[in-house]
Amino acid sequence: MTKSLSLPRRLGHVARMMTAFVGPPIARWSPRPPLPAAPAPTAHDLGHGITLWRLPVGVVRIRERHRALPTDLAELDDKLRFPVMMSDRRITGWLDCTAWLIDHPERRILVDTGESAGFGTPDYFGAAAKSMGKIYPKIIDATAATGNDLPAMVAATGHKMADIDLCVLTHTHSDHVGNLDALPASTRMLVSPEELVPAARSGRLLPKLPQDGRVQQTVRDATRGAFGPVMPLTARGDVFVVPTPGHTAGHQSVVIDLGARRIVLAGDAAFDEDQVVQGTIPGIVEQRAATLATYDRLRRAAQEKPTLTLFTHDPANAAKLAAFVQPG
Ligand SMILES: [Zn+2]
Repeated sequence: MTKSLSLPRRLGHVARMMTAFVGPPIARWSPRPPLPAAPAPTAHDLGHGITLWRLPVGVVRIRERHRALPTDLAELDDKLRFPVMMSDRRITGWLDCTAWLIDHPERRILVDTGESAGFGTPDYFGAAAKSMGKIYPKIIDATAATGNDLPAMVAATGHKMADIDLCVLTHTHSDHVGNLDALPASTRMLVSPEELVPAARSGRLLPKLPQDGRVQQTVRDATRGAFGPVMPLTARGDVFVVPTPGHTAGHQSVVIDLGARRIVLAGDAAFDEDQVVQGTIPGIVEQRAATLATYDRLRRAAQEKPTLTLFTHDPANAAKLAAFVQPG
């Protein structure tokens, strides 16, 4: 069931959204807090020869309603949700844009690329500079501190960029594809087929994807319990890609199966685990129904075996991983 608002309230939200779009970028009306000092990657030994690296690459600020809609607005239909989010003038502090490096005995897999200092510039938006390049800085504020770029973070892990043969993109919003141009020519990118279908007002930055054949589509040719159809990324079958649509129509996540337990790198399927448990809807989701179905799938998967689900912008990621690796 979705619900609507009275006509005057609808018009009010649409008018405030229009004002936000004609007005200046967020960075010009909401003072930027200082950038986090010297963000560093953290290593987490998962056993089975797997090390998971948490790479904080760039930061983002969003509207409070972007992160979560208040309960009385949570059931709005898909068309009204965006104006309601954009009419909010309250902005969060800086949130990490986490990229993940899975150092597996078979290969090095990057999940997402974080945000870059180039956010907001015409070069950054490329072919989308005239359209999305103009509106993006009014929807979010984002940047990266010096030394907080993807190559610096990967270098700090002791790996070379060329060691990464695959980069899984959970989806194509700027803070996840902000460093695609830092990937070497030998790195393939995995994007879901649903994500590649253009959709108006989705914010997907498809023009940022390279056109040289390095982008491959996820092929789900195996199944794994509650996750349903998946794409294994290792011969052992212990790392696989699962569909988690809702935030975008083609949003996908990466699962690291450790036998008795597992980790889900869930991108922006939610902003944190509480949202999945409570059924909280962020203002930004493309599809509310798909988001709730994804929450349900994540909850059912967690019933199969102990699962740690990690989200791109959750400030508690390092602490949650540390507790997972050394329980008690
Ligand atoms: Zn994001």
